[in-house]
Amino acid sequence: MAYTVPQLTDYSPAALEKAADESIAACQTESANVRSDADLKSFRDRWMARKNGILTQINDLWLKGAPKDAKREAGMRVNQLKARITELVESAHIAGGVDLLASERVDISLPGIRRPIGAEHPIIKTMHEIVGVFQRLGYSVAEGPVVETDYYNFEALNFPPNHPARDTQDTLFIAGQQSKPARERLLLRTHTSPVQIRTMEKMRPPIRIVIPGTVHRNDPPDASHSPMFHQIEGLAVDTNITFGDLKGTLDHAMKALFGSSVKTHFRPSFFPFTEPSAELYVTCFICGGSGKRDGNAPCRPCKQTGWIEVLGCGMVDPNVFEFVKDNGYDPKKVSGFAFGMGVDRLALLKYGVDDLQYFFQGDVRFLQQFG
Ligand SMILES: [Zn+2]
Repeated sequence: MAYTVPQLTDYSPAALEKAADESIAACQTESANVRSDADLKSFRDRWMARKNGILTQINDLWLKGAPKDAKREAGMRVNQLKARITELVESAHIAGGVDLLASERVDISLPGIRRPIGAEHPIIKTMHEIVGVFQRLGYSVAEGPVVETDYYNFEALNFPPNHPARDTQDTLFIAGQQSKPARERLLLRTHTSPVQIRTMEKMRPPIRIVIPGTVHRNDPPDASHSPMFHQIEGLAVDTNITFGDLKGTLDHAMKALFGSSVKTHFRPSFFPFTEPSAELYVTCFICGGSGKRDGNAPCRPCKQTGWIEVLGCGMVDPNVFEFVKDNGYDPKKVSGFAFGMGVDRLALLKYGVDDLQYFFQGDVRFLQQFG
């Protein structure tokens, strides 16, 4: 016979105590009969439900129905009873089971969810390899904003006014800045070199940094161009840095990246921010410098020359140091070298991919080959 809350006529302490004891005994009995999650839920609802649960009924029948002079005694007893019942209900559990609702339980026998963790993108992987080579030489990593001012991207790097690189055919400018002075106009940086200036403004010499990052140019996408691509820039400044240091550092880096048998070769070049400037070539790591593939086929990546251009470099132009002279970069006292390379092109060569666009299309069938 299920317990029902009796109407009380006798409000004497003894009668109240008897009624409370019966109620507790009923709750204990029902609690012992809980066999399943469903039992547990209906047990809890039956006793605790705000609307018409047994505790609510007790409150309504015994307390509100009590005569005035018994209200105090009844209130105290009902409160004690409520606390005891709440305790019983909360500690109830499935007989022989664990004290948890099914929704709260973790079934440790279920197989886990396998989440594909993916792999490093081939360009990021190449970038990390290059950065790693220089980090082992004691270089630290510096970064800077992708949206730059004309000052950092061009002026402080010794680009003369009206240099063709500033042309909108090459550079992506932020729109609507005609009212600003030229040096404050915002653009998407066309190289990672502005970070050289930004770092020299913050750190006094000596410094050795590599600067990886994305850069933008106004190039329509094709097999070897993209409006967004990646560069790694390097800068070393100290007293008495010579072109010999530049050659030794880069020769070591190329051997670390492409294998100890590669040879390096410098050809004169021009960049506004270095003087003298050079392009660095390495022996083709695809044909080994012979210009020929298996079966005497011509080697395409090196255009049969046996040499591949990998980066531009040079001694920092004293005019560049003039912009950060106040932070210890007096061109009469310090010297340095800088270099910069296109990561995407190196990744193309390294992995034998013939279209740059594959790297940016996000096609898993292509990317998973590098996982
Ligand atoms: Zn070759």
